[in-house]
Amino acid sequence: MSGKTEEIEKTGRIHSIETLGGADGPGLRMVIFMQGCPLRCIYCHNPDTWDRNGGREFTAEALVQKAMHYRTYFGREGGVTLSGGEPLMQPLFAAELFKQLKKADINTALDTAGTIPSEDVAKVLANTDTVLLDIKMPDQERYDQYIGGSLSTTMNFLHAASAAGCRIWIRHVVVPGINDKKDDIVSLCSLIYDSGVAVERMELLPYHKMGIEKYKLLGLSYRLAEVQELGEGRLAKLLEYCLEELPELFRAIKK
Ligand code: SF4
Repeated sequence: MSGKTEEIEKTGRIHSIETLGGADGPGLRMVIFMQGCPLRCIYCHNPDTWDRNGGREFTAEALVQKAMHYRTYFGREGGVTLSGGEPLMQPLFAAELFKQLKKADINTALDTAGTIPSEDVAKVLANTDTVLLDIKMPDQERYDQYIGGSLSTTMNFLHAASAAGCRIWIRHVVVPGINDKKDDIVSLCSLIYDSGVAVERMELLPYHKMGIEKYKLLGLSYRLAEVQELGEGRLAKLLEYCLEELPELFRAIKK
């Protein structure tokens, strides 16, 4: 024994918990939404998660116990997804929680934008089964204009997740007039393809206005008030482009 104490964060700030969701990773999952986000995505529907000090405090043990409750519903693929906000804003807590979940034989998924450069991120990835990486825009110019953060940090994270042996799913929200052209989707696919990382799945998610009321409650201005939600037909067309452009890259593509 070295005698060196491993750094851990005993409690985390949690926004909310969805007990059994089917939209955030493989199978049925308990989804824990964490507080804190350094980005300001123009389409964000969870601005109430931005404050790192908001929400309620939970211990990792309490969350593992809760997950154990739902274990029988998880089946072969399901488990716990850590989402947000940006879960990597609390990396030492996320690392401790995932360590305890893996000890309890519960599958782990990390839903992240991958824009936090921190040495502690590796500690989270060490116990992450699946990474749901949200590549927000196909170029830095649009990160600057609509998101904040850095595309290159996100791509570095993609490589780190791959090196850590995680399954990788990519997510991308499509907003009319911002990133819904064929060229935008081709650029995104090329970015992923050129990284050389084996991606298992890509999800294109349509822009919606579900968060608009939260902006009013928080006294924030909503910059996309005039933009329409993305129609099903347009989304289907963009998925076709993905399949045409890079058919060998994805085993499955989901809306
Ligand atoms: S990363 Fe997520 S929580 Fe953060 S601003 Fe973007 S959409 Fe909102």
